[in-house]
Amino acid sequence: MHRFFTDEIQPNTAVVRGDDVKHIAKVLRLRAGDAVQLCDGRGSECDAVITGIAGDAVSFETGPWRRAESEPSVSVTLFQCLPKAGKMETIIQKCVELGACGFVPVQSERCVVVLKPPYEGRIERWQRVSEEAAKQSRRGIIPKVALPIALDKLDFSDFDTVLVAYENERSVSLKTALRAHCGERIAIVIGPEGGFSEAEIEQLTKKGARSVSLGTRILRTETAGMAMTAQILYEVEP
Ligand code: SAH
Repeated sequence: MHRFFTDEIQPNTAVVRGDDVKHIAKVLRLRAGDAVQLCDGRGSECDAVITGIAGDAVSFETGPWRRAESEPSVSVTLFQCLPKAGKMETIIQKCVELGACGFVPVQSERCVVVLKPPYEGRIERWQRVSEEAAKQSRRGIIPKVALPIALDKLDFSDFDTVLVAYENERSVSLKTALRAHCGERIAIVIGPEGGFSEAEIEQLTKKGARSVSLGTRILRTETAGMAMTAQILYEVEP
């Protein structure tokens, strides 16, 4: 069944506006009486029936709202040190499909790319990638892409578990760290192509991050976030 996000929700009714209207009317050729699924983008979904299609809005009668089935029981936020051009889009798209709940682009010592303000255009583009991936993979939320932040300014106070994937970590595996302690709000930190400096790992550890290994093979930065997200959800999901 087709599925759309909306935040215009009243008791028993809802409205979808914007690009989806053309998609519903012209591409999918849906009509009054057709059934769809609606999602509020905050973790709830419902079955709905189209009641009218006007120029710029589609209105719906909505059934009872329920928790979106596709949302994982823990939230994984990816702190991704800025990769080379174009890779962030791939990372966001794939990690949304896999179940990540948010993204924070991080500027670190060895990033080749240095983002300069204003950031808005780029963040909007990444946010659109997240929304498209959320629609495609039937997520119950649209994961947020935050403004870029310098590694030394990171604040993990909103998280229960913070794990930094460190290519030189030899003793603690991701599995060991998760089995020792895993809260519901998990932050993962991935280095850029050039990896982390020892000083950065020390800084992150002081802020409560646990350094973990993703195995004996070195993954590209764009692979590491995807692999770690998938492995965490595999380990902790019922
Ligand atoms: N240039 C570095 C590798 C960087 S890989 C080197 O050759 O040593 C980019 C990032 O992916 C790393 O900073 C780390 O966060 C993550 N990563 C890749 N492979 C990893 C592994 N086996 N264990 C832990 N983290 C890894």
